[in-house]
Amino acid sequence: MDFTNNRDASAAELYDIAAKALENAYAPFSGFRVGSALLDADGRIFTGVNIENSSFGATICAERTAFVKALSEGSREFTAIAIAAENEEALPCGICRQFMYEFSPDILVITGKDRETLAARRLSELLPLGFRL
Ligand code: ZN
Repeated sequence: MDFTNNRDASAAELYDIAAKALENAYAPFSGFRVGSALLDADGRIFTGVNIENSSFGATICAERTAFVKALSEGSREFTAIAIAAENEEALPCGICRQFMYEFSPDILVITGKDRETLAARRLSELLPLGFRL
């Protein structure tokens, strides 16, 4: 599983970073902790976690947290994102698929129950008809 612009991270390594990041998740309501690790075209890695809120609509997913961190640091092109939950595969929700599509319609989305069961799919496969202005 190779990345087009991969310099340092394999899919499994990116997944490991996501799995470690989830320790910082804030999920007191669902107990469903998720971590992500986003690799940009320059080889930089940004982590994210889900952050729930008492006002449930204010909750943000791990994928968007990583994207917002990266975007706010000036990054605009992304190669891959790994998503890790505890003992189950976590696929990105519809909002996150659309959010990622805005910047990287073909980003590689790496998911799995653990590093031995990783799957990599293009976002364009997960969201075939994404919306863009
Ligand atoms: Zn989401």
